[in-house]
Amino acid sequence: MPQSPLQLYIHVPYCIHKCHYCDFNSHVRTQPDWQVYEQALIAELDYWANQKQFQNRKLHSIFFGGGTPSLAPASLIGRVLEHAQNLFGFENNLEITLEANPGTVDMQAFQGFYQAGINRLSMGVQSLNHNELQWLERIHNSDEVYQAFDAARRAGFNNINLDFMYGLPQQSLEQWQQTLYAGLQFDPEHLSCYQLTVEPHTKLAARHAASPYKLPDDETSLNFFHQTRNMLADAGYSAYEISNFAKPDQYCRHNDGYWLYHDYIGIGAGASGKWDTSNGSTYRYSNSRTPETYTAQTIQKGFAINSDETLSIQQAAAEAVWVGLRRKNGIDDVWFKQRFGQSITDYFKHELEPWLNDNKLIWNNRQLHLTESGISLADAIAESVIV
Ligand code: SF4
Repeated sequence: MPQSPLQLYIHVPYCIHKCHYCDFNSHVRTQPDWQVYEQALIAELDYWANQKQFQNRKLHSIFFGGGTPSLAPASLIGRVLEHAQNLFGFENNLEITLEANPGTVDMQAFQGFYQAGINRLSMGVQSLNHNELQWLERIHNSDEVYQAFDAARRAGFNNINLDFMYGLPQQSLEQWQQTLYAGLQFDPEHLSCYQLTVEPHTKLAARHAASPYKLPDDETSLNFFHQTRNMLADAGYSAYEISNFAKPDQYCRHNDGYWLYHDYIGIGAGASGKWDTSNGSTYRYSNSRTPETYTAQTIQKGFAINSDETLSIQQAAAEAVWVGLRRKNGIDDVWFKQRFGQSITDYFKHELEPWLNDNKLIWNNRQLHLTESGISLADAIAESVIV
């Protein structure tokens, strides 16, 4: 079985305010104890670097996600990266992304992150419309997005993603087009565009239950989706994943690794990791979510695993199809056979045949991928293989 590249995810769980739609593991703390959080990250890195499955494996990509990683001192980011490099080593041209929220960063902060080794930024813009940003409860306004982007460029960042969200209550297609058009004027290397979803257990879900918002119906959602794809294709961005768009060769290697079913270590509060085991199953764990519990456990014993599971080879194969079909290029059947022992059709002939016959899925040599008309059915197709 081939060994996959190894990725590292580092979670920074702190935010200035909890946006009402957010179901990420984010916690509002007025003064996070950065020293303790860094100590825990270092201890957890030491723990994972000692595990036999990670011996002699250099890191392929690193991603600081949150929460709001741009709240962290650049010195912390730099020391964590240096420690990771000493323990694992870095592959050449390692991609190191940091999520940055406008309103939390200035020129000095960006310069610090750049000098610390960050070479890709992902900015949580979400909208450039004043009313929409207020409704989303973001802490920034559109002027601060312009200032942050300009500061990031001047600090040296030449690989920047902008995150946007569409399908907000009362948002018209024209309003979304205006936002996306304004976003394109930044000339970013990458854009992520997701539809707003009302996640359970969020403040938004409670508000929506008490007094329902007017959210787009299925047909309108599809219009938003196709309009987004068309506008970004016209602007030269490839939809290399269902919701992710990049200029040539500027796709996010780290996120693509998740869809390619690579192994990854996750450190930090609520982070998760997964890897292939020698018998073909997949092991997965998640850390304690509260920062204080996470730091106390990690500093004491080196890890803070709160839950874990092992997927059978059949379950792992289904999961690899589930995530792999999100990619424009789909899944490589030669890789699939090496990893899971049989080809995709050996595993899922019965489940996939109707979609192939209906031209929603197609084989392109050894790659199985969605067709243009299958893209909007990605979830239904993926669900059909889950065992
Ligand atoms: S800034 Fe991001 S992570 Fe923090 S609360 Fe808002 S959506 Fe969640």
